[in-house]
Amino acid sequence: MPTITLESVSKQYSQQATAVQNIDLHIPSGDFMCLLGPSGCGKTTMLRMIAGLEHLSHGQLHIGDQLVDSPERGSFVAPEKRGLGLVFQSYALWPHMTVEQNIEFGLRLRKVTERERRTRTGDVMEKLGIAGYAKRYPSQLSGGQQQRVALARMMVLNPKVLLLDEPLSNLDASLRLEMRAELKRLHQAFDTTILFVTHDQWEAMTLATNIAVMSKGQLQQVGSPDDIYARPANRFVAEFIGNPPINQVAADSALGRRLAQKAETHMLGIRPEDIHLAQPGAVHTLPAKVCGIMPTGGSWVLEMEIEGQCLQLSTQVRPEVKAGEHTYCQIQPRHLHLFNAQGNRLEH
Ligand code: ATP
Repeated sequence: MPTITLESVSKQYSQQATAVQNIDLHIPSGDFMCLLGPSGCGKTTMLRMIAGLEHLSHGQLHIGDQLVDSPERGSFVAPEKRGLGLVFQSYALWPHMTVEQNIEFGLRLRKVTERERRTRTGDVMEKLGIAGYAKRYPSQLSGGQQQRVALARMMVLNPKVLLLDEPLSNLDASLRLEMRAELKRLHQAFDTTILFVTHDQWEAMTLATNIAVMSKGQLQQVGSPDDIYARPANRFVAEFIGNPPINQVAADSALGRRLAQKAETHMLGIRPEDIHLAQPGAVHTLPAKVCGIMPTGGSWVLEMEIEGQCLQLSTQVRPEVKAGEHTYCQIQPRHLHLFNAQGNRLEH
């Protein structure tokens, strides 16, 4: 199982358009890494460079021990020689072939015997719940079914590295959940290295062993989902990850002055679940007013006014307060995220 290593990698489509800038990223063998970031941040470009569908403008790319792209050294290994499986958001199935034929096509090219082709194609169709459509043509399938055929076509080849660009985007919510679970199982069962592009933080948090967060062509943070959530490296990561989003309090506001612990603090972040309804007199409490309560199915989001500022609180416990009531909120100092004027995390 190969590792993937990018060193000082940049991609410029033109003089004005730098899509990816000076990226160092190591994807360990067997990792399920999600590239996460908003639209246009360079995720697809990263994937296409690793696949060999785009040339690097600068830097080096290794897959395993092999240097597969380095413009400075003049080396470039063709996509089909990189041993990768690829599924893109827009997948092209062969329209004149049935589902079964589409899936086994790659095995035919590899001269796999008919018997083995049958077994492998059957297995993967079974796993992905598309065995019932084996004899249909792509035009007779829904978008979600087509996407599963595209996944099956790649998985049947047992690639050592899978590159997936938003492969679940056309699926409805329940199928998406199922496919996520399936991908997770496949990752464990096949021991593959997976690089998965998504702009959906929930998808990244549930699937990844490691997440690489990108913004404007630059890497913001690489770490486990827990790490990224609990210790965001900067304000971008803190704001991008979390739903409801992290509360932001300017250090020079009334509330900020009550909470700030370090002189260099410019902004404080407080996750909604780290604000608790409390009894007066408990430690670290502040008077608060309940402005609104929104049930979200098994949990509740409360709009609270604290020191003249509106903050969101989330809880899994049915709140025993009503809109308009005065109460108290507890905010533990250890749960605060502190950021300096440059937006970088301050440890405390
Ligand atoms: P999305 O989630 O919307 O697919 P992304 O994060 O995958 O976005 P990329 O597709 O990698 O982003 O694009 C990164 C930047 O590079 C964007 O500003 C885009 O407009 C630009 N870009 C992408 N492909 C090209 C191209 N072939 N020529 C010029 N600019 C491009």
